[in-house]
Amino acid sequence: MNVNQSAPPVPPFGRPQPVYPGYHQSNNYGGQPGSTVPPTPYSTYNGPVPGYQQTPPGVSRAPPPSGAPPGSTTQAPCGQAAYGQFDQGDVQNGPSSTVQMQRFPGSQTFGSAPVAPVVSQPAVLQPYGPPPTSAQVTAQLAGMQISGAVAPAPPSSGLGYGPPTSMASASGSFLNSGLYGSYPQGQASPLSQAQGHPGTQPAQRSAPPQASSLIPPTPGGPRMPSMTGPLLPGQGFGGPPVNQPNHVSSPPQTLLPGNQMNRPPGPPPSMHSSPQPGYQLQQNGSFGPAQGPQPNYGSSYPGAPNFGSQPGPPQPLPPKRLDPDAIPSPQLSELPPQQKTRHRIDPDAIPSPIQVIEDDRNNRGSEPFVTGVRGQVPPLVTTNFLVKDQGNASPRYIRCTSYNIPCTSDMAKQAQVPLAAVIKPLARLPPEEASLYVVDHGESGPLRCNRCKAYMCPFMQFIEGGRRFQCCFCSCVNDVPPQYFQHLDHTGKRVDAYDRPELSLGSYEFLATVDYCKNNKFPSPPAFIFMIDVSYNAIRSGLVKLLCEELKSLLDFLPRDGGAEESAIRVGFVTYNKVLHFYNVKSSLAQPQMMVVSDVADMFVPLLDGFLVNVNESRAVITSLLDQIPEMFVDTRETETVFAPVIQAGMEALKAAECAGKLFLFHTSLPIAEAPGKLKNRDDRKLINTDKEKTLFQPQTGAYQTLAKECVAQGCCVDLFLFPNQYVDVATLSVVPQLTGGSVYKYACFQVENDQERFLSDLRRDVQKVIGFDAVMRVRTSTGIRAVDFFGAFYMSNTTDVELAGLDGEKTVTVEFKHDDRLNEENGALLQCALLYTSCAGQRRLRIHNLSLNCCTQLADLYRNCETDTLINYMAKFAYRGVLNSPLKTVRDTLIAQCAQILACYRKNCASPSSAGQLILPECMKLLPVYLNCVLKSDVLQPGAEVTTDDRAYVRQLVTSMDVAETNVFFYPRLLPLTKSPIENATEPPAVRASEERLCNGDIYLLENGLNLFLWVGASVQQGVVQSLFCVSSFSQITSGLNVLPVLDNPLSKKVRGLIDNLRAQRSRYMKLIVVKQEDKLEMLFKHFLVEDKSLNGGASYVDFLCHMHKEIRQLLS
Ligand SMILES: [Zn+2]
Repeated sequence: MNVNQSAPPVPPFGRPQPVYPGYHQSNNYGGQPGSTVPPTPYSTYNGPVPGYQQTPPGVSRAPPPSGAPPGSTTQAPCGQAAYGQFDQGDVQNGPSSTVQMQRFPGSQTFGSAPVAPVVSQPAVLQPYGPPPTSAQVTAQLAGMQISGAVAPAPPSSGLGYGPPTSMASASGSFLNSGLYGSYPQGQASPLSQAQGHPGTQPAQRSAPPQASSLIPPTPGGPRMPSMTGPLLPGQGFGGPPVNQPNHVSSPPQTLLPGNQMNRPPGPPPSMHSSPQPGYQLQQNGSFGPAQGPQPNYGSSYPGAPNFGSQPGPPQPLPPKRLDPDAIPSPQLSELPPQQKTRHRIDPDAIPSPIQVIEDDRNNRGSEPFVTGVRGQVPPLVTTNFLVKDQGNASPRYIRCTSYNIPCTSDMAKQAQVPLAAVIKPLARLPPEEASLYVVDHGESGPLRCNRCKAYMCPFMQFIEGGRRFQCCFCSCVNDVPPQYFQHLDHTGKRVDAYDRPELSLGSYEFLATVDYCKNNKFPSPPAFIFMIDVSYNAIRSGLVKLLCEELKSLLDFLPRDGGAEESAIRVGFVTYNKVLHFYNVKSSLAQPQMMVVSDVADMFVPLLDGFLVNVNESRAVITSLLDQIPEMFVDTRETETVFAPVIQAGMEALKAAECAGKLFLFHTSLPIAEAPGKLKNRDDRKLINTDKEKTLFQPQTGAYQTLAKECVAQGCCVDLFLFPNQYVDVATLSVVPQLTGGSVYKYACFQVENDQERFLSDLRRDVQKVIGFDAVMRVRTSTGIRAVDFFGAFYMSNTTDVELAGLDGEKTVTVEFKHDDRLNEENGALLQCALLYTSCAGQRRLRIHNLSLNCCTQLADLYRNCETDTLINYMAKFAYRGVLNSPLKTVRDTLIAQCAQILACYRKNCASPSSAGQLILPECMKLLPVYLNCVLKSDVLQPGAEVTTDDRAYVRQLVTSMDVAETNVFFYPRLLPLTKSPIENATEPPAVRASEERLCNGDIYLLENGLNLFLWVGASVQQGVVQSLFCVSSFSQITSGLNVLPVLDNPLSKKVRGLIDNLRAQRSRYMKLIVVKQEDKLEMLFKHFLVEDKSLNGGASYVDFLCHMHKEIRQLLS
């Protein structure tokens, strides 16, 4: 990692970067340690908590008589007495109905608190499409992989959807991985023929913990895309004949073994008839042997049969031939194996993600990325690098699909390269990088353009001796207020430019004035409300006990601002099943008091005073409550739950307290109890591959969108932890989290012993993470382009403002731009992302990110400055939103057509002339086909039999707010061989390509994709290795599906466990380990992640897809 620190940072200012006089450094916003590599984020976590045991002195104010407002209290004895009313024996809802609260008079105001919603206009939720008809909502228990042992369950009430039935699978253990629901029993594991493959991957440096790449995901954007497909073949080519392929002297591109792709006249020679030379990567990024003129090579590319700089030795005979017409299309690739293997291409001859990643690490990982230059393409997300802000936002905050965008919309349409930015406004920075400065302009507030309201930034042009400035976004000339006046130097720059973050940096914050606050009132500190399902399933699985125990200590680690000693966040508690229980945990009470609200149809909050409290002040009461909750409900038989009323209650509580905040919901089952938001089991696997498949991704009722809209208006963010034993309709339950900027976590078939670590790790991280509340994000652009489309977890009531009830440091918003005018090369294009939010301490702030891009009149410049990882991030989000209202095949075809168009346009306009049979890829996009194929065959777009509807909905919404690093590894998992490199070598081993061919049966591999983590053990692995890692004497004794490696005192064991810890630290969610043995049943699941191979559900192999893509491109060109 030192490589990245070696270059001593040059201060971006004239002098060493000081804390600016008058500005204070926002010391890691939110009080987080700031490290994205959290080796010990929770290190002090279980430490002694001073004052924890102390009970506040006396004053036993006790529970109110039932039905009375909390104000009137009666004396109650300590201890259980306060809970006497729901002593066991009550089997209905835990507490007896005798404590039923009446709505007391004062409570009326809660529902209609005079808080003007932030959305003032009649916001219309973007449609999810019509709710499914009832015909589609047939309960499909039969389809729900109930296949294993059935746990004893209480009598179910209701619709037969009750208690913990089983979802155990053929291989019980992996169900609990929380991975992908279940596993088809019938599918035998095909023999894996792991053939030792010579390590062709030259990677050598380990990837140190990613500095920038932690983020969890959330739901898909609510806005419907119109799946405006790419151009029809030929359509985009009517543009100006760009006939200067040599605008770029040596166009960066990748040539694939042309003769393999080419269909020569005459019968194809036998595939293996000639020796295989093993293509080398050539100087210009080309692959494959040079190729001579082709017989059927048209005359449109005069000359240059040996195009470019390909000095490769002439190959008299192509080593392998490929008949393009015989190439199966990705969706039709259900070919018998022999047919598939007929036209094999040497996988080493096609672009390798591993190679590209390694090259970038080697070339760009050693020195800081300095952002002073416009349009500079940053290193890949897989490269560990430091950033120095010299006027443009760090790529940790903004990444673009291209850093050089076409000047005209005609060019853009021709190329079909999406112009998009993936923005992570609150991204955490590694400790080595300075956190953002907070600029305080006092009562006058931040300086802005009068016309377009853009914020002061380094690109504003000061004129007339500094008395005015011209807006870089809209060209409006503005007066400089007297207090901001400063003289210009001989270059026209303000002499104080380097003393002011807003004049010299790409990213900074402003303190917002009261004008930026709701109701012109500075906000109160936010609140966290923990809302715990205490129905039968939650109690029985041990969840409630585990959670309550954890919260007792976790509450000491609520996020803080800067150097604050304690968090300003207040907390509240609710438990629920069919009814809701609110708790008064006021510090003056000796015991917590419970109030039950059973009128779930008309939710109100039965108490105001004492519901939201300071943790330190109310510690004793809170601890007492958390001790008692598991006991109170231990004998519950209630299996039904409500869901919408719970969110409603939390939101109303925040409204009554006039603050923003976050609800943490811990929920176990489909909410079938009679209440608003009641759901039916409408899972229906028969809909897969039909036009109605999209309904599986749509919410089954519009009630949740309405609720979400109210939450957004209140700044109420919802995080949802799901613990389902069967279908819970994630598509519907995740609507509110998604529209409020929250997160969804899912632990299928949760059992404390198996899933405790994963759940607690996620929970700790989620509770502690940096978060802004009640946020609005606006992206401004310079004249010529504008933001037209948005993807992520947020809500929009108009076309420009992205409203986020909450936004954490891991969520991204992807923004697409379109031309509305001509750009010019001289001015380039500018983006400014402004995020107005309330910090954890209740401070109202504006965070500004600026980015300048180049503009081009030559398509080659566009293709030279693209970022494929970001393109894939955008395309995946676009497709994942598309499934809400288009058949999946349409979505897949659209992606394929767009990719073909992008590559055909390059071929036609930018590549050196060459045979039509040669597939030529732009250097920056040579991984586009392999990555796109991974998106196409992902579970959302092409599900296998083992993937549940809930899993697909879950993944769909996760991807929607992933950043680029997350989508990169999610779609193309990392596969690390463990015994190839010397044991002493502590760094991460070089990865290999995600293909079965790369597995050696004498080795052990780790595979991770940010959500899942496997340890694959080859059948011929040395006995010593088995002993060292698993403490058993032979391969056959290794337990398949093992989740934990034994802690053994030997170098290999330490190394592997250390590596696993390291991988987990890099990801935003805890990855549970699954040990998979070669040729074991579980291996099927593992192979699902070998994404270069053909998948069981019909997804094409990389090679097949590349051939198909080539065919498509040729069609477009012909
Ligand atoms: Zn302006």
